Amino acid sequence: MFVNKIILDGFRNYSEFSVDFSDKVNVIIGNNAQGKTNLIEAIYYLTSGRSFRAKNDRELIGFDKDSAYIRANIFSGEREQKLETRIDRVKRRLFTANDVKLRTAAELSGKLRAVLFCPDDLNLIREGAAVRRRLMDACLCQLRPRYAQSLTEFNKLLDHKTRILRDYHQKPSLLYALDDFDHHLALMSAELIHYRAAYAALLSERASRIHREFSGGAETLTIKYCTVKTITDTGRPPSELLPQILEHQREHRRAELETGSCLTGAHKDDLDIEIDGRAARSFASQGQARTAALSVKLAERQIHYDDRGEYPLLLLDDVLSELDDRRQNFVLNHINDGQVFITCCEDARIASRTGGKVHRIDGGKLQ
Ligand code: ATP
Ligand code: MG
Repeated sequence: MFVNKIILDGFRNYSEFSVDFSDKVNVIIGNNAQGKTNLIEAIYYLTSGRSFRAKNDRELIGFDKDSAYIRANIFSGEREQKLETRIDRVKRRLFTANDVKLRTAAELSGKLRAVLFCPDDLNLIREGAAVRRRLMDACLCQLRPRYAQSLTEFNKLLDHKTRILRDYHQKPSLLYALDDFDHHLALMSAELIHYRAAYAALLSERASRIHREFSGGAETLTIKYCTVKTITDTGRPPSELLPQILEHQREHRRAELETGSCLTGAHKDDLDIEIDGRAARSFASQGQARTAALSVKLAERQIHYDDRGEYPLLLLDDVLSELDDRRQNFVLNHINDGQVFITCCEDARIASRTGGKVHRIDGGKLQ
């Protein structure tokens, strides 16, 4: 799977922009604030209809533009394909695949897949749980269309429920709808938990294998999925998880009303990452945490490969320059297959080490 060409118009600082990529390594070079990450973001957006950094889609539209357009000519599923999106300030955004309109962004799932790796991911081990949930969501949204739908639905319901819990003092009638929201939220939680549990098991297995290799067999990395406490076995189907989630909701109803926040559901999930049996979040050294994060990200790529038989794109935004030589080598040795995009500031050393095609970006234009 790879992207041959990207066309951007009105997307962030790009207008009437077009670039042809190598199907192997592409190095995107430029000074700060020239549009390197924006280009990575445009590619990533077509994998799932989500940006990895914008809070809402309007941020993606050029400051003085009414809409943003992204088109990618890709090779995927053993044929040439065309993906397009238009994001408008007022109208609904539009996605097409091979000129056929898609009903929702979830239908993009699987057409173009990518693993993004940026400096923030190096904090995967030590940061709060949100980063690790994003890791699960990013991969599952691309591999499982049903997961992407459930996640969108879950987030909508969670928003509604949070508003009810926040505003019911002023408007007590809101509470009539609470049971209904709770039930639907629990249904969606059960779906998400079912997928996440299976994903976490795969991630643990792949990441610990990679980590063992990286640490020369010295350390053991394990990843455990943590979710709603009343669930006894996350491996059960969603229909069996549901009653246990509802039980947790009942136990926390009073606390939710008192605190005005939603205390039960898949939005509290986390991954417990341990090195040699100890919580990496508390005990790993800076270097150990980085190595573990690298192993996790490379495992994510492996999961895509094992699932679909082809490597997803690998988007390395600014990450190589953050790593010492040994870790750079480890990453470079693991990315010989598949298409790779590497951004870096003027760093001839990185460009030559990867041997990739160089694209120089200056103010949203190719040089
Ligand atoms: P760095 O090396 O610092 O990471 P970069 O090349 O990755 O830099 P980007 O984040 O891709 O930089 O681009 C940043 C530039 O894009 C900024 O100058 C910013 O003002 C501009 N920009 C961001 N959003 C928009 C937008 N909606 N419209 C126009 N320009 C935008
Ligand atoms: Mg950047």
